[in-house]
This record gives sequence, C-alpha cells and structure tokens, in this order.
Amino acid sequence: MLDLVIRGGTVVTPSGSGEFDVGIQGEKIVMVAARGAISEEAGASIDASGKYVFPGGIEPHTHIASRVSEAWAGRPDVMTQSPEAASRAAAHGGVTTFIDFAGGMEGTEDGDQSENSIMTRLDARRSVFAGHSYTDFAFHFTLAGEVPPHTIGEIGEAIESGVASFKIFTTFGSKVPFGHLWAIFEEVGKNGGIMAVHAEDDDMVKYMEAKLVREGRDQGYNLHLAHNNISEDIAFRKITRLSEHTETGIYFVHTTAKEGAYAIADARAKQLPVYGETLHNYLHFTHDHYREPEGTSIHTYPAIKHASDRDGLQEALVNGTLSTTATDEYTTYKDVKLSGNTIETVCGGHNGIETRMPVVYTKFVSSGRISLERFVDITSTNAAKILGMYPQKGAIAAGSDADIAIFDPGMNKTITLDDLHADSDYSIWEGFECQGYPVTTILRGNVIVDNGVLKGSSTDGQWLSRKVAPSVLAGPVC
Ligand SMILES: [Zn+2]
Repeated sequence: MLDLVIRGGTVVTPSGSGEFDVGIQGEKIVMVAARGAISEEAGASIDASGKYVFPGGIEPHTHIASRVSEAWAGRPDVMTQSPEAASRAAAHGGVTTFIDFAGGMEGTEDGDQSENSIMTRLDARRSVFAGHSYTDFAFHFTLAGEVPPHTIGEIGEAIESGVASFKIFTTFGSKVPFGHLWAIFEEVGKNGGIMAVHAEDDDMVKYMEAKLVREGRDQGYNLHLAHNNISEDIAFRKITRLSEHTETGIYFVHTTAKEGAYAIADARAKQLPVYGETLHNYLHFTHDHYREPEGTSIHTYPAIKHASDRDGLQEALVNGTLSTTATDEYTTYKDVKLSGNTIETVCGGHNGIETRMPVVYTKFVSSGRISLERFVDITSTNAAKILGMYPQKGAIAAGSDADIAIFDPGMNKTITLDDLHADSDYSIWEGFECQGYPVTTILRGNVIVDNGVLKGSSTDGQWLSRKVAPSVLAGPVC
C-alpha cells in the first residue's frame, strides 16, 4: 500500500512536465504514473488539481546561525537567525534542502579552530543543526587564509565522507592566497569534489575602497564601485584558468555582473565544468535602490550593480549560462542590517530563503520567459546535480526522496512581512506582487507545510551526504 498519492496536478519530471499522479511510500517516490492510473490504495491523498507539482526547492547558499561581524552589526554577539527559524521560512517557501557552511568561519565554535581537523569542525557545525531543522541540510566546507598542508591533506577524506564542495574567497579577511588555491583546487579536483568560489579581485576592491574613503565617497550607496564589474571579470577569469589547469569543477556563488556571466559562458564554451549561481535580489534591484531610504537593506556582497547587469543576469538564466538561483540567506533584524552605512560596514545579506521560489517564478515563468522545466532546473535540479545530491534530491522520479513543493499558479499574493516566517522585522520584498505561490511542502514523504500551515517538526531535517557525479565534473551538464 502507498502512504500518499498526489493526484491531479501538473508534475515536472526529469523527462518533462505532464498530467501525472505521484505515489509515495515511506520517504521515497515509488511511482509517477499517468493521471488516474494509480489504482493502489493509499493511506492519504492530496488533490493537486490546478496546481504544479515541483521537486522541493534547493537553496544552495545560506548563512544560518553565523556570527555577524561587529563592524557590520555595530555591536558584538549578534548571530544570524537560528536553524529553526530559517528552515521554517524555507519550508513555507517550498524549499526542502539548504546548503550552509562549515569550517569555523561561522563563528559558532570556541577559540582558534585552525588546528582542528576538517571532520572535527564538520561535526561541530552539524551539531548546531541536527535536531533543529524543519528541512534537510548540508554544508560547503570553507577553507580560509593560508590553508596549512595538513588541512589540504584531509580534503580527500572529507570528500569520501560526503562533503562534496569547498568554499573559498578571493577577497575579504578570509581570502586564500592564489598559490594555496592552486594546491586546494588540485586536491579537490583529484578527489572528485567541486569548488564553490566567491571571486572578486582583492587588489582592485581594496584599491577602490581606499580611493572612495580618500575622496569622501565611501557611502553605502557606492558599494558597487568598490565591488565592481571589472573586478568580477578579472577574478572569474583567473579562477576559470586555474580550473582548466587543475581540471577542477567550479561553482561560482553569487554572480553579480554581466561580465561574470560572460566569463562563465566562455569557460563553458570550452567545455570546462564551470557553473554559475545568481541571487534573486540581483535579478530585480539595481544600485540605484541603494540611494532610497533604508536602501542598503537590499545589499548582498559583492554588490548589486547596474540595470544592464540585472538584465544580463536574467538573460544568462534564460539562455542557460547560469545554472542556479540562491539567496545568500543571512537574516538579521533591521537595526543590525542598517547599522553600518559605509562601503566597509554595510551588513551583507537578508532573509530570502522563503521568497526565492515565488519571486523567480513570477519574474520568469509568469512573464513567459522560461518553461516550468527550466524553473525546476534553476530552483532545484541543477543545484542537486552540481553539488552532488542528484537524483536523491531535485527530481520527481521513482527512487528519489519524496521532496515536493506544490505550487498554486493562480495564487496572487503581495508579499508582506506578516506573511513571512523568518526571525526578522523587514523584508526587501515587501510589496512585491507574486503571481503564483508555494502552498504545500513535503519532505521525504512527510507533509511539513499543508496549505500554508506548518505541520512539520524542527527535528525532521537530516544532514545529507553528497557526492558529485563524474559527468558533472567532466564538462557543463546543466
Ligand atoms: Zn554567502
């Protein structure tokens, strides 16, 4: 007997969308059949008539339960929202899996962790989330600064144990020098992992910061001049060159500029395994919004750029150059977010994990720019493939986890803070008119949000072991 059948919906499967019924047993999808063809009895059924049935959203870039720097917050001991709050917001937004970060950069460990092994630090981070998440979760492991040889030597073991991706920065205090990067890329490539890269040219960013300070132009609304287009161009191309020399897959987090998208397109034209993410606020706002009252609330590092970049990023998602949408979720209260107002003190990030799917749906599907299949690719499937969770996650197919977002395309909803579930007191999407909205979310067969009502528990979520498929690392597959 089946435990649950979803009937009557338009279902997006790996081989296209159609009128299917979905049979679920335990935590798994066991059948996807023509509408009305599942005759087996079921413990429960959901009528999805008039709705879309998507794989649960995958949010590949979050910073949950992370210490906010004092320079940003204006005071010590501020944390981004808890796993309970963030995953509750995720569940309401149709998201069933998120990938956060481990490695000590989150500031949740005590003392200097640089002597501790990758596995020890991973365990410490896992303990912050285990038993405290409504959705499944995983971690990119962050390598920072001059990474010692003994840590680089542990990369293979970490990949073996299910850590598929390693995050590095080419700027900020956590910048990894380029020689060290070379060694890290070689080790990650050799062991079948993938690099998640925040790429900006540190020299150019620092030069511009100093220049803007010197000229009295260091107001927050000039962030895009410090974290600028040419810096992204140079840094992305340097990273793709290193990818080519070391045969290592790259996942560029938060592509902000058309130049970044062009660099990714050039690398992919050479069949390099290079993938790009962008953020839903980069697809909507421009740096002009920084000048509005409380305008820097929209900011996420590197920076929101020009209208031509916003349009270029949209086009790159439509034409396949970019593979995923994310939010760089980093939720604080407004007093923290707006505490700093210079190019060196504006707090990054915002509460986005709940709004990503309806905003992307509205901007791209309702507007007729992409298909339902492409929507599923850029909100779920591609992240699962690139970051080593496919087909367990990101697919409505027999054998996959029964992670599902049921979406009502007829639900028009103007976003207001009262409707959101994050632990925060503002939303940059206040007033945004969604044409279509997630209504029901299922995690491994368990209905965690039922028509907008939370049914799951914060002990439901599990850590995911990940492994990138060799095909993903052999060339661009999505
Ligand atoms: Zn981030």
